[in-house]
Amino acid sequence: MNHTELRAELHALHLELPRNGLVTWTSGNISARLDGGLLIKPSGVTFAELTPESMVVTDLNAQVIEGDLSPSSDTATHAYVYRQMPEVGGIVHTHSPYATAWAATGQEIPCVLTAMADEFGGPVPCGGFAPIGGEEIGAEVVRVLKGHRSPAIILQSHGVFTIGKTPLAALKAAVMVEDVARTVFLAYQLAAARGVEVQTISPADIDRLHHRYTHVYGQQQHQETPCP
Ligand SMILES: [Zn+2]
Repeated sequence: MNHTELRAELHALHLELPRNGLVTWTSGNISARLDGGLLIKPSGVTFAELTPESMVVTDLNAQVIEGDLSPSSDTATHAYVYRQMPEVGGIVHTHSPYATAWAATGQEIPCVLTAMADEFGGPVPCGGFAPIGGEEIGAEVVRVLKGHRSPAIILQSHGVFTIGKTPLAALKAAVMVEDVARTVFLAYQLAAARGVEVQTISPADIDRLHHRYTHVYGQQQHQETPCP
């Protein structure tokens, strides 16, 4: 994919953030890895004002290479993650409300749904508090997610970071983490109202579900069963 196509794709993916209720005003951003750098949303621009051309190219030290606008204030975080995790091709950051409510409690989102076992391979982990602007957030994201099955982390008192092989994969994880954060929140409210416990899933069942989802489920090559 050339830079023009990637700019168009990244712009289209950014429009999915407000469409899925993950962002407010100018908060939230997506980046894509480039050869030796990254492409990211400009800082302080509303989603309605964004264009493919307004996306900013920086190197992996967050220094601008191409673009008239300043890059997102989270660019140092994205750059740090790309430097430390070569398998990552896309990153999403949001303050989506339910996931960020969990982050405000400093608690992981417990794995109580099969969809969580599928997508995250267990609880969505919660990283510690880190100041904004430098590389501390990136360091916390890498510390928790490197080697972890979850493509998503909630950061204490802040919000959500998700990673993927592509920006689309990272966006999917950002949509999914908000969806399960809402459902699990509702489950705990309902359980409290009914005087019952939220049911947990055993580690063995989580492993089985995650393996099935990542190895068998979907339209994978050579594993498709033709419809009769
Ligand atoms: Zn943030």
